[in-house]
Amino acid sequence: MKNGTKCIHEGYKPANGQPLALPIYQSTTYAYESTEHIGKLFDLAADGHMYSRISNPTVAYVEEKIAALEGGVAAVCTTSGQTASFLSLVNILGCGDSFLCSSKIYGGTINLFSVTMKRFGIECIYFDPDAEDGEIEALIKPNTRAVFAESLANPALSVLDIRRIADIAHRHGIPLIVDNTFPTPILCRPIEHGADIVTHSTTKYMDGHAIQVGGAIVDSGNFDWEKNGYTCLSEPDESYHGVVYTKDFGKAAYAVKLRVQLIRDFGTYPSATAAFYLDLGLQTLDVRMERHCKNAYAVAEYLKKSNKVEAVAYPALEGDKYHSLAQKYMPNGTSGVVSLTIAGGKENAVRFMDALKLAKNVVHVATVHTCVLHPASETHRQLNDEQLIAAGINPGMIRLSVGIEDINDILADIENGLSKCV
Ligand SMILES: *Cc1c(COP(=O)(O)O)cnc(C)c1O
Repeated sequence: MKNGTKCIHEGYKPANGQPLALPIYQSTTYAYESTEHIGKLFDLAADGHMYSRISNPTVAYVEEKIAALEGGVAAVCTTSGQTASFLSLVNILGCGDSFLCSSKIYGGTINLFSVTMKRFGIECIYFDPDAEDGEIEALIKPNTRAVFAESLANPALSVLDIRRIADIAHRHGIPLIVDNTFPTPILCRPIEHGADIVTHSTTKYMDGHAIQVGGAIVDSGNFDWEKNGYTCLSEPDESYHGVVYTKDFGKAAYAVKLRVQLIRDFGTYPSATAAFYLDLGLQTLDVRMERHCKNAYAVAEYLKKSNKVEAVAYPALEGDKYHSLAQKYMPNGTSGVVSLTIAGGKENAVRFMDALKLAKNVVHVATVHTCVLHPASETHRQLNDEQLIAAGINPGMIRLSVGIEDINDILADIENGLSKCV
């Protein structure tokens, strides 16, 4: 099946006489006929749901769909994208370890990595994803256990050279984790380019309608944990009677450990109803992404021609700094997100934002509605000027998330906004 078909038919597959729509199994627990069976579940020796802090049938169907869309062996849903980023790392890192992270990354991720995870004794070392191989490799230390980067950075809109960064990581025996939130698997499939783990804030395009915060982690099944010395996966886990994830779960070792150990301990699993909403979003993901890309391309072209706009970043647009990488990794488009810098700095940026009527001024992106956000005064206000610049954010930059409305109405709104700039 192609991804457009998988959006609808992967995951839940109704048998004879069953409901066509994904059922919401809103239950905390599951009934079994014998104590022995439940004992086996506790030992991970039998398949089945036990308690909805760890797994649930509705969520599991959505996990299957996401894994299929990304081309991974398994996926685990989480209560937010932040949790997905955090768990993707702490599944294989502990106190005293470090990891490399692209400097072009979501502001919330920077807080998590630089402040909160530091308090856990895990060091985040930032690298410029556009730097030469040698410069990046020089940052890798003996305790460096992962590389983390966004395929299409929020909000910098830089495109990651996934294959090159994966090769660097693999030369050092460490996995590449790619946050694929903005492109979604419809526009980019990082596993095909060497990524080992893929994370998502499903809150964005996957949900797509601004209704439910969520996240997901996909395991490619390709990384050799045992050979590369990840003993947390290749040595017995005493909390499960000595289960050895790499031996007992093969290619899905990382995903199984993440679920049965971290999701169990942190309690960050979504509800069945949350997963149902996510599934509704996933069903139309393919058609929505096509329209988002088409509309955003038209908006980027329009902005590029305006003398009220100093700079436009949209990698699908010819002449963009990341155009050739975009052609390689996301040839069908680079999502609905366009970033623009209004001439005349922050004051004109605010005039433009406040004049918009159709486009909503919200702390969100990647929904069917067109919306705008000013990173420097909103999402990224915790960052100092140096961090802002490293994250690729100009103080006058606006992030415009182009929705799926009629393009003529979107352009008319932008035209009106620009007319208010002095
Ligand atoms: C929004 C976002 C996150 C965080 O996701 P939440 O669902 O808000 O927790 C992580 N990465 C990227 C790229 C994002 O855009």
